Amino acid sequence: MNYDIIVVGGGPAGMTAAIYAGRAGWKTLLVDPMGGGGQPSTADMIYNYPGFPDGVKGPDLMDLMARQAKVFGVKIDYEEVAKVTQEGQDESGKAGEAGFKVSSGDTEYTARAVVYAAGSRPRKLGVPGEEEYLAKGIGFCATCDGALFRDKVVAVVGGGDSALSEAVFLTQYAKEVIIIHRRDEYRAGVANVKLVQENPKIRELLSTVVESVRGDEVLTGITVRNLKTGEVRDLEVQGLFLYVGWTPNVEPIRHLVETDKNGYVLTNEDMSTKTPGLFVAGDLRRKPLRQVTTAVGDGATAAWSAEKYLLERGVR
Ligand code: NAP
Repeated sequence: MNYDIIVVGGGPAGMTAAIYAGRAGWKTLLVDPMGGGGQPSTADMIYNYPGFPDGVKGPDLMDLMARQAKVFGVKIDYEEVAKVTQEGQDESGKAGEAGFKVSSGDTEYTARAVVYAAGSRPRKLGVPGEEEYLAKGIGFCATCDGALFRDKVVAVVGGGDSALSEAVFLTQYAKEVIIIHRRDEYRAGVANVKLVQENPKIRELLSTVVESVRGDEVLTGITVRNLKTGEVRDLEVQGLFLYVGWTPNVEPIRHLVETDKNGYVLTNEDMSTKTPGLFVAGDLRRKPLRQVTTAVGDGATAAWSAEKYLLERGVR
C-alpha cells in the first residue's frame, strides 16, 4: 500500500495535516488505533477553540475533523503504528529518497513523506494497588467514565488544566470530587482554577500525594499524605482519575529524531526533523503551549512542508 503522505495519529494535529494533504490532492492515509480522536475526544467540553462561542464537546469536534478529512479523500485505517523506518535511495534518483515504511502489526505501508502526530499517553502514579484497580475505579477519562460515579465520591489527581476541568465535569455526577495536587499552587490557568474554587462540590487537598490505592473487587479507597505536615490519612473514594501529565509516544520514530530529556521531539519551525521527509506535529513536539489550537497549526504547517518536500523531489 503506497501513499504520498502517511499521517500517524488522529488528534487535531494529525487530522489537520490529513485535511490539508488530502485537499491538496496527495494520496493520503491517516493511521490511528481508534480511527482518530486523540486527547480532545476525552475532553467533555472545549471552550477555547475558536469558532465555538458556547464551547464544543471534544468528541464532536474530533468527529467533524475526521469527516472533513474523509471529504478530501483521506483514507483512515485503525492501526497502532509500531515503527517508522526510512527506505533506501530511489533507483530513479529523480525523486530523491525512496521514502518510509510504516509498520503496524502485520500491516506495512509505504509513503514518500510522513507526518507523525501520535501525541502522548497518560502517565500513571506508580503507587501500590494502582495496576490492580486500573479500569476498576481508576481511570484517565472522566468524560468516558464519569457517569458511572453518580452520587459517589471521586478523587482527581493533578493540578493542570486537565485535572481541574475534568474535576468540574465530574461534579455533575459525583456527590463530592476531591482534587489532590502535590503542590499548593495549581499549574492550570486561572479560568479553570476559578471554576474549581467556585464549585461547592469540589474539595481541594493541596501539597498532598496519593501513597496507595486499595479495594476489593473494585476501588474503595486511597491513602494520601500531606507533604507539608506529613499527616497520612485514608479516604473512601469509589473513583480515582489520574491527570498527572503525559508521556510522548516517540518510540516508533525515536531513531529518526532528536528529543529533549523528556522525550519531546525537536523540530524546526516548519515541523521538519533531522530526517528529511519526516515531519512531527502536535503535542509530541517540544513547544511551549499544548492546546488544540496549537496542534491544528502544527498540522497545517507539517502538511505544507511535506508537500514542499514532495514537490522538490519531483513527486507529481
Ligand atoms: P500538565 O499541565 O502537565 O499537568 C500535570 C499535572 O500533574 C501537574 O499539576 C503536575 O504537578 C501533576 N503531576 C505530574 N506528575 C505527578 C505525580 N507523579 N504525582 C502527582 N502529580 C503529578 O498536564 P495536563 O493538565 O494534562 O495538560 C496538558 C496540556 O493540555 C497543558 O498545556 C494544558 O494547558 C492543556 N490543556 C488545556 C485545557 C484547557 O482547558 N485549556 C484542558 C486540558 C488540557 P506539578 O504542577 O507540580 O508539576
